[in-house]
Amino acid sequence: MTTEIYLDGNATSSILPAALAAALDVLEQRFGNPSSTHATGLRARATLDAVRQRARRLLGVGDGKLMFNSGATEGIQTAVLSALLALRERRERGEAIGALLLYGATEHKAVPESLAHWNRVLGLHLELRALPVDGSGRHDLSALRVLAPQAGLVCTMAANNETGVISDLAGIEAVLADCAAGALWLVDCVQALGKLDLHLASTRIDYAPFSGHKLYAPKGVGMLYVRAGAPYTALMMGGGQEDGLRSGTENMAGIAALGAVLAALEDGATFRSHAELAGFRKRLADSLRGALPGVVFNNDFACSLPTTLNFSVPGVPSATLMDVFDAAGVRVSSGSACSAKKAAPSYVLEAMQLPRWRSAGAIRMSFGALVDEATIAAACARIARCGEALRASCLIPSQQAPLPHDGVVQLGVEGACSWLVLDAASRSCVIIDPLPEACERIEQFVRCQQYAVRAVLSTVAEGARARLVAALGAYSAGIGPTDALGWPRQAGEGVMLDDGGRRACLTLGQQTVARLEQGTGQAAYLLGRAVEGRLPAQQLRFAFVSQLAAADGTGQAAAAALAGVIEADTLLCPTRASDTQFCSSPRALAQPRDPVGEELQVHAAALDTFLRSHPGTVLIDVREPYEYAAAGAPAAGDPAAGDSANASGPGGHPARSVPLSRLSAHLSEWLHGTPVPLLFFCRSGNRSVKAAQCLRRLGYSQAWHLSGGLALAPLARAA
Ligand code: PLP
Repeated sequence: MTTEIYLDGNATSSILPAALAAALDVLEQRFGNPSSTHATGLRARATLDAVRQRARRLLGVGDGKLMFNSGATEGIQTAVLSALLALRERRERGEAIGALLLYGATEHKAVPESLAHWNRVLGLHLELRALPVDGSGRHDLSALRVLAPQAGLVCTMAANNETGVISDLAGIEAVLADCAAGALWLVDCVQALGKLDLHLASTRIDYAPFSGHKLYAPKGVGMLYVRAGAPYTALMMGGGQEDGLRSGTENMAGIAALGAVLAALEDGATFRSHAELAGFRKRLADSLRGALPGVVFNNDFACSLPTTLNFSVPGVPSATLMDVFDAAGVRVSSGSACSAKKAAPSYVLEAMQLPRWRSAGAIRMSFGALVDEATIAAACARIARCGEALRASCLIPSQQAPLPHDGVVQLGVEGACSWLVLDAASRSCVIIDPLPEACERIEQFVRCQQYAVRAVLSTVAEGARARLVAALGAYSAGIGPTDALGWPRQAGEGVMLDDGGRRACLTLGQQTVARLEQGTGQAAYLLGRAVEGRLPAQQLRFAFVSQLAAADGTGQAAAAALAGVIEADTLLCPTRASDTQFCSSPRALAQPRDPVGEELQVHAAALDTFLRSHPGTVLIDVREPYEYAAAGAPAAGDPAAGDSANASGPGGHPARSVPLSRLSAHLSEWLHGTPVPLLFFCRSGNRSVKAAQCLRRLGYSQAWHLSGGLALAPLARAA
């Protein structure tokens, strides 16, 4: 297995060895409760006091409060509750408190969510207003100047978790001093700890939450600073720990570990300097520039933490970049870690007004101040390998001759997809329904493969067809004049279908594409092998349609419109469908099955049992060819062409490669062949579940998927 290079330090960090030792010492030896008055308790109290003293010194807390808690989300909660209760009391006394709760548009969600929650719970009904940021992600101080006089509470962060952009806290403070004397000020210092100098008591910051796990301490420990004299209300009441500021027996292992990290920060010898870290970031950035042509950085290095890079690559979605980096063993994240499961564009980059392709395609690469030279060198080498992998798959421009691709390829974009029909022998292709978001990728693919484009077709008159044809230049020159849906006027003779009608057609190698008009401005396209001027239903493997369902959602529309020309198992390939749809068939639409969940899952720990009880199971890897290439895995067969025989599967079992984008091309083989158990897998289980569901929907009952994917499988075997 490839060793892991962890470049997701802004999400969380590993544990400093000294912190682990300190935590273990507390768990094994100094396990006392600091509230106990016997010697065991007193030793724990001494540890607690020493860590607090160190933290106070390091953060320049002055005569402010500094309490330990479970992390920044709790700290933010406590600060917001304290501030909002104080505002409510002031209002009840008849004082003016302003109408706004102002927060930076790029704040971590913990801030606006807490504001909304406590505003509602406390019945304050103030207006939450996002403070805009400029193109580099820094707060718009002129907007602050306008809004601050109306604000009861202002929340800004010291450094952003997605971009590492460092706020101009001095500038914000000056504006607040000028025009918002009464407003309280919360500064989320999570990403700043250990990376920026903080002397909290010499600022007018009222509340500053911190989190241990972003700086080599464990999860579940944090701190909250409260300025002397700032309003405070405990969130947790009980045994009166932390001087009654935060009840609950202290997380002594976490606090001791945090203490070891703070000691390392103080001694100055453990963590790398700003200049060294900036040098490492430059090396990573140079590697990215070399590997991924056109890469753009979404954070201005001059005003961001030296440990964060945020970038987008034209034409390559973040999901593809995530897959390729993960396959190479480089752990990065797309958007912020908390929302990484959703494909939503980054709200941080949207607030910076970056174009959608950048906010939706962004990758964050971040490392900690303990990183070593060898890790950076290895990361640079793997970045280069990721670039080569994407190049070989024609996802980014390449000088090398790629492996020719063949068959039907599906390119999905957020619940819709474009279809490519490729013929390697004649080096030509037909493109169906190019979605605007997929155009760059399709153009890149065609140029790299040097395929002649025979037609760019639409099922309905919309989309980016004309733009793509123009962008394809010489590659689309052979198409000639077309109608509004892209059908070439000089297409072939026509072919007879089973309904007795003759339809216009064009040939692509040994295949024929026939067009079926469906009312005004709509068409379906049929793909199969023509025999003596006929395209009989049983030869029709694919029907490309705009969508499966009728406007009333009955799901029969596509099949009904093609009745008489296709057969029950012809695959209906929709352009617009929810992202789990892939293909359907007239048979599947006529007998809708309940969505299958649990019963198609095979858990990693149960894999061997499953394989024993399902002899002859074929394991199918639905990862894409560029993931193999990035992993440096020997490619058995020809994965670029979408099928290889002995890729290595979970637990070393032999597996066959059928990339998800090629699933449709293989469906009829399974549907028409002798049924065998199929167990799909991928990196995380997110893609293999779609493959298994698609087969089940099509009536193939022997399809399963490995839940948790390869990420969990090796662990389960080792257990
Ligand atoms: N604020 C920022 C800027 C963060 O990056 C995070 C964590 O992602 C949090 C707050 C929440 O911190 P915790 O995980 O300690 O609750």
